[in-house]
Amino acid sequence: MAQTLLKVSGLKVAYGGIQAVKGVDFEVREGELVSLIGSNGAGKTTTMKAITGTLPINSGDIEYMGRSIKGRGPWDLVKEGLAMVPEGRGVFTRMSITENLMMGAYIRNDKAVIAEDIEKIFTIFPRLRERKDQLAGTMSGGEQQMLAMGRALMSRPKLLLLDEPSMGLSPIMVDKVFEVVRDVYAQGVTILLVEQNASRALALADRGYVMESGLINMSGAGRDLLSDPKVRAAYLGE
Ligand code: ATP
Repeated sequence: MAQTLLKVSGLKVAYGGIQAVKGVDFEVREGELVSLIGSNGAGKTTTMKAITGTLPINSGDIEYMGRSIKGRGPWDLVKEGLAMVPEGRGVFTRMSITENLMMGAYIRNDKAVIAEDIEKIFTIFPRLRERKDQLAGTMSGGEQQMLAMGRALMSRPKLLLLDEPSMGLSPIMVDKVFEVVRDVYAQGVTILLVEQNASRALALADRGYVMESGLINMSGAGRDLLSDPKVRAAYLGE
């Protein structure tokens, strides 16, 4: 069996007195695409933020490549190959597309290779090439999502965390985003995908976890969850 890349155990996170994540365990193995689904407010984004150190955790542990990363921040984790595309994208709005992509490579200083990688990103997202000098803040939601994914890929991650990449996008952009997720995974990047679009996320996933009210209440192979009547009733509108 492949090595465990990310292991979350007994994770609890609270906002003041409100317990948003109440003791969650899951793992992501090398080469897998794992989807975390669940309804609004289930605690998915909170879990992602806790992993990347943007939120402090109350108890539990997070291990990446066999070592605890508890208390480490996102900039530090990128150096270890753990990159995140946050919900809402978080692009640098006053910078151009090219400058945003360069920021994604801040941990590296091999200029020639960075230029090659920018070319690769432009091949994946031709729209970004067309607009490479445009300020990121003036782009559409879908374009900003592509940029955020491109920027994360510039760090050449081993593990990519994607928080709701399809949120708020038009159907064509949603297709494009899922196509890129599948391609990045096919290239060997391990992915943890948080999505409200449960059917698309489970269809792509090797394995999935279902989160509800701060707890994981189901897990299994992506296709098994997709055909599970309880999942279909609760998350696929059937
Ligand atoms: P969504 O899909 O709507 O983003 P989610 O599963 O990602 O949902 P979270 O954003 O993790 O859910 O929220 C989990 C719970 O924590 C919710 O009840 C939410 O209201 C609460 N919460 C999130 N952020 C904060 C905050 N900054 N302060 C207080 N409560 C918060």
